[in-house]
Amino acid sequence: MARKKQFKAESQRLLDLMINSIYTNKEIFLRELISNASDATDKLYFKSLQDGSMDVDKDSLKIEIDIDKESRHLIIKDHGIGMDEKELEQFLGTIAKSDSHAFKNALEEDSDVDVIGQFGVGFYSAFMVSSQVEVISRAFGSDEAYKFTSNGLDGYRIEEAEREDHGTTVICTIKESTDDDNYDQYLESFTLQHLIKQYSDYIRYPIVMDVEHYDEEESTIERETINSMIPLWKRSKSDVSEEELNQFYKDKFHDYEDPFKTIRMSVEGNPSFDALLFIPKHVPMNFYSTQYEPGLQLYSRGVFIMEHNKSLIPEHFRFVRGLVDSPDLNLNISREILQNDRQLTLISNRIERKIRTELETMLKNDREAYQELWEQFGMTIKYGLYSSFGMKRDELQDLLLFRSSHDESYHTLKEYVSRMKEDQTEIFYVAGESVSKCQMLPQTEFVTDKGYEVLYLTDEIDEFVIQILQSYEEKGFKSINQGDLDLIDEETKEKISKKTEEAQSLISALKDSLSSKVDEVRLSTRLVNHPVCLVSEDGMSFEMEKVLNAMPDSQEEFKAKRILEINPDHELLGALEAIYEKDASLLDTYATVLYDQACLIEGLPIEDPVDFSKKIAGLMVESSKKLS
Ligand code: ADP
Ligand code: MG
Repeated sequence: MARKKQFKAESQRLLDLMINSIYTNKEIFLRELISNASDATDKLYFKSLQDGSMDVDKDSLKIEIDIDKESRHLIIKDHGIGMDEKELEQFLGTIAKSDSHAFKNALEEDSDVDVIGQFGVGFYSAFMVSSQVEVISRAFGSDEAYKFTSNGLDGYRIEEAEREDHGTTVICTIKESTDDDNYDQYLESFTLQHLIKQYSDYIRYPIVMDVEHYDEEESTIERETINSMIPLWKRSKSDVSEEELNQFYKDKFHDYEDPFKTIRMSVEGNPSFDALLFIPKHVPMNFYSTQYEPGLQLYSRGVFIMEHNKSLIPEHFRFVRGLVDSPDLNLNISREILQNDRQLTLISNRIERKIRTELETMLKNDREAYQELWEQFGMTIKYGLYSSFGMKRDELQDLLLFRSSHDESYHTLKEYVSRMKEDQTEIFYVAGESVSKCQMLPQTEFVTDKGYEVLYLTDEIDEFVIQILQSYEEKGFKSINQGDLDLIDEETKEKISKKTEEAQSLISALKDSLSSKVDEVRLSTRLVNHPVCLVSEDGMSFEMEKVLNAMPDSQEEFKAKRILEINPDHELLGALEAIYEKDASLLDTYATVLYDQACLIEGLPIEDPVDFSKKIAGLMVESSKKLS
């Protein structure tokens, strides 16, 4: 009973892209099919370990490659976990898997065809070289087998079939060669051997095929294992090229770019383990979604145990991919218990330390590279520091980079402190949407004019991180637009408090006008040229207010305490006094306009833009009357 079905729309689009692209590296289809066979065998083998009663003949766990030139068949056969009817439909009829999905996104984002060649493109890549693909599969534990057939163009069909044991057989009908493409080569034993060696050497199950030997006049055919089966991480360092490591990373972790950095560890002790770690060059597509599963692959004596072991990698390094292989893990326990294994904690501590030292070394010796990495993953490190409530403070604080008023580049806290002025007791910072917004703030001008450096906190998380850090080398952090900023000499202080006394009734009147908007109005000790600014009380800042209110589940409305500061040396103060004396009714208008201006400077929305522009227009009209 066969039913003909259409591919899901997006699967179809991906297929079309793949088949019709001017893609040169078609040969990787073999790597993809072999890696699927290997994954399926892993799954079966793991199941047999978990479930002691199940008897899996280890010798049967091989991947067989056969060629039939006459029918143009290339056959890849495994004895793995297999697929039932529903799985055939689900796994091969749609792009349900995130990897293929990510590939599709990459294609759309980056029309550079080269991207394709490096991506783990999965099962669909078979259609690049095949006019038809048949997949006959029998799920482990089932008596029924099913066959999936498709030419990649107009859908697929699934029907009942025969297969003597569990596992999957993929039969590719290789396309006829054209002037541009030599498909015939995929029916040549020699080419296939070469491709297996090149792409699939480390596969841990034997990949066997018939190999022809020529001996004087006679030729004999023997069934041989083509791959060395030694996992990459078990081979001596000198024996593994960078290229192999990069290819391995791309295959295993479905990235289209080489890793940014590869870290190999080989630890003897209790427990002993090998680790192969990769720092990606870029944030993975789904990194910030719940789809992204952090963690390292776990192996025991070269046998795959689990895909994402989260306890092996701390939150702040969750962007690191890779694997751990240890002979000292107890395999008879279930996956859940394994996660809490004490041995794993010890391994995880070693790994964390190793990554940290690698990053520190990079920061010291290759600043540019570190900055590149920081731009991709700095957020994750900061978030990890924050979410561990400062427990990782000592370990992570020197990995942090910030922008500052010093120059355009990034700076560590250590560098900031080393540049602090003699009389400076606190680390100054200001939070804003971008470096240029921070630079433009009137308060920044004041502080930098005095010769102090200001950190620019431009990521939403930054202020929260600063709060968690509390201090660095015993220097506290001080926001330049919050609370008091004690940077002026006694004489100026005197002067301002005198002016405040004189202007007391004006200040009270302004405060009354703005009573629903600000908590205080005062003469400023931090303005140079600008007439006004808005600052907040110590504690919650305006940036934090924005972040907290933007949280999807925030119940209450967060509001930082607002203080409107007026420049005591600006002509405006005199103008306000004059208005207040002559026509106090106008003061309301002035007060609101001033407040709105201060909000704009601070990057806060103004409550009533229409009213604001009406008032400005009114003031323009007024001042023009004086001209005539
Ligand atoms: P990926 O391997 O990245 O998941 P593929 O497109 O290569 O994506 O394969 C899709 C899915 O089809 C696999 O995740 C697996 O569940 C199933 N599959 C493919 N080949 C086999 C096979 N030989 N045996 C069992 N399942 C397979
Ligand atoms: Mg695959």
